[in-house]
Amino acid sequence: MKYPRCPSCNGIFTYIEGFKMVNPWKVKCPHCGILLETTLLVKIFGVLAPFLGLAVAGVAIYFEEIGRWQTINSVIFLAATFSIIGIVCFACYPYMKFTKK
Ligand SMILES: [Zn+2]
Repeated sequence: MKYPRCPSCNGIFTYIEGFKMVNPWKVKCPHCGILLETTLLVKIFGVLAPFLGLAVAGVAIYFEEIGRWQTINSVIFLAATFSIIGIVCFACYPYMKFTKK
C-alpha cells in the first residue's frame, strides 16, 4: 500500500498518523521528529473544510426550513455527503507530499 513519506528519514505516515496531523503548516514526523509542512492544496483544503461543512449543513437547514425535507432527509443527505468527502480524503491521502520546514 502506498503511503506518504517523510522527506528526511523516508518513514511512512500511516492513516492513523495522518489523522493526528491537524496543522498542515506544522507536521512533526513521528519517526525522526523533524518539522514538515504539506502542499498548498492541502493547506487550502484545511482552511476551506470548516466552510464546506457549514455549506453542507446549510443545504440541509435550507430544505428543512422551506418544508421540502423532513429530518430523515437531512440525516441521509449529511451522512451521504460526509461519507463521500471522507472517501475522497481517504483516497487522496496516499498522494500527500511533505516538505521540510
Ligand atoms: Zn522523518
